[in-house]
Formats: sequence, C-alpha cells, structure tokens
Amino acid sequence: MIPSAFEYERATSVDDAIAKLAATGGTGKLIAGGHSLVPLMKLRLNEPTTLIDIARISALVGIRERDGLIEIGAGTVHHDVATSALLGAQCPVVSDTAATIGDPQVRNRGTIGGSLAHADPAADYPAMLLAVDAQIHLQGAGGPRVVAAEDFFQDLFTVDLGPDEIITAVRFAPVRAAAYAKLYQRASRFAIVGVAAALEVTDGAISAARVGLTGALSSAVRLSGVETALVGQPATAATVATAATGAGAALSDVSADLHASEAYRRAMVSVFTKRALEGALARLSA
Ligand SMILES: Cc1cc2nc3c(=O)[nH]c(=O)nc-3n(C[C@H](O)[C@H](O)[C@H](O)COP(=O)(O)OP(=O)(O)OC[C@H]3O[C@@H](n4cnc5c(N)ncnc54)[C@H](O)[C@@H]3O)c2cc1C
Repeated sequence: MIPSAFEYERATSVDDAIAKLAATGGTGKLIAGGHSLVPLMKLRLNEPTTLIDIARISALVGIRERDGLIEIGAGTVHHDVATSALLGAQCPVVSDTAATIGDPQVRNRGTIGGSLAHADPAADYPAMLLAVDAQIHLQGAGGPRVVAAEDFFQDLFTVDLGPDEIITAVRFAPVRAAAYAKLYQRASRFAIVGVAAALEVTDGAISAARVGLTGALSSAVRLSGVETALVGQPATAATVATAATGAGAALSDVSADLHASEAYRRAMVSVFTKRALEGALARLSA
C-alpha cells in the first residue's frame, strides 16, 4: 500500500530533532533507517504528519569507549555494530547479535536506536542488552535521562520513551563471557526465540549470571529462574544444562503464531538458553 501524505524534514542535530519533534505536537515521527517505520506507514498502521530524518546526525553515530564503558550511538547501523573491532575484542556478544539481524540491506540501513524504540517482540538487541546490563540514554525537551534496559522494555512495542524524546546512545561495561543463540525465522531472520547469556566466574564458580530472552513473549525479559539456578554453581557444561532445562516451562504467556506453536517455543527457549550459556562458557577459555 501507499502511505498517507506526510511532510519530510531533516534534523541537523539532536537538539534540532527534539525541537522539530515538539513542533509537530505529537503527530510527527523520527525516522532513522526506516526499516520498521516505513512498513508500518505502508500498512497505514502509523500515519505521521511529519517525518523527521535523524539519519545524518553525526553525533548519533559511532562506537567508542567512554569512562570505562562502551558507547554505541543510537544512529549506528547494524552492519557497523556487527563489524566493530572494539566490540569484537571487548564484548563480542554485541557484534555477534547484530550480525544475526535481517539481511545486508537491513543491516546497512537499520539502526540500534530504531530497533530499541520500535521494540518488536522478536528483535534481537533487547535480549542482548538485558544480558550485558546496558543503559539507554535519552534526551528530550526536559533534558537527558538514563534508563536501564531492564526498565526500558515494557510490553509489546512499548518502551519507556516519551513522545518528545530521542534515544541518543546505549552504554554498557564490556563482558567477554557472553553469547547469543537464536532460532530465526527463515525469511526475515527475526528471532522465533533468541537468548543472550552473560556470566561472571570466580575461582571456577559462577558468581553472576544475566540471561535475556526475546521472541517468545510480548517483550524481552530476563530469565531470572535460570540466573538463580546458575549462581554459586561450578562453571561447567553440566551446570548450564541443568539450569536451562526448565527455562521454557517456567514462562507464562508464551507467544504462538504461524512460525511456532506455544509448545515449540517453550521447548526452544530451553534449547537456546543452553546454547547461549554454552557459548558464554566457551568464551571463558577463549
Ligand atoms: C526484512 C526485514 C528483516 C528484519 N530482520 C530483523 C531481525 O532479524 N532482527 C531484528 O532485530 N530486526 C530485524 N528487522 C528490523 C530492523 O532491525 C530495523 O532496522 C529496526 O527494527 C528499526 O531500525 P530503523 O533504524 O530502521 O528504525 P526506523 O524504522 O527508522 O524507526 C523505527 C521506530 O523507531 C523510532 N526511532 C528511530 N530512531 C530513534 C531514536 N534514535 N530515538 C527514538 N526513536 C527512534 C522511529 O520514530 C520509529 O517509531 C528487520 C527489518 C526488515 C525490514
């Protein structure tokens, strides 16, 4: 279908984008890569009066170290995340996750900020950002704000982001022993089930664990039961296999659609939790 008529403006800075957004009185939308928004507009599920293009704001683009953390600008495209030498060396789960997104066209246009704002229940980044305990940096007319990933993803296509706010960056402490495992839908490569796991190990025992899940529920969540089962146990294949076993059965409101039944998704949550944890363990010795 053809979208409704709209005005187009290009923002030159974050402040300019916020001002332009405010000027629309809530009827405008930011556009970055357009790979989620444009399909919605074509279906007329979203009919903004004005599109404010933020794709050429250089301050929103790039991957850098800042204050001991890694910062990814919200306008950074998936391809640049997937191929970042910094991420590959210090926090490879992030680049691995980006590399699983869509196809080359999607990865070269779609941005991490757009993915987080859109919050598709099958998007890959949310599970990974939960596992690395990321913080999401926002800016609006009321000033800057920081939200933990855990509080940001609230429900189906619903996040803690005001109508006048823009995501500027995500930040996290690098985690080496972390991995992402995904059962993907063959055409789009969206996650039917995606699990990201991050482990800290002290003297051979798991001292901390964070496990994020996407694809199976209305939004990304942490698998707190799995995390609890891991902490204090030896960092072994047997431990992660035991902890992952009941991961799917423990969930409520598991999604069912043409790609996977509820029972299949539950089974795959356990399988891919085990694979993600095994991947994290493998990185301990890499
Ligand atoms: C064929 C296809 C396959 C795909 N496969 C996958 C996949 O396997 N895994 C996956 O995770 N995703 C997948 N996607 C989605 C893709 O990752 C999108 O690029 C992403 O969801 C949105 O990013 P964008 O930059 O294109 O955002 P846009 O479409 O431009 O915007 C999406 C929403 O975010 C808002 N927005 C954009 N940037 C900001 C910002 N900085 N601050 C606040 N709001 C903002 C917009 O207003 C809009 O509401 C796929 C998409 C397509 C078309």
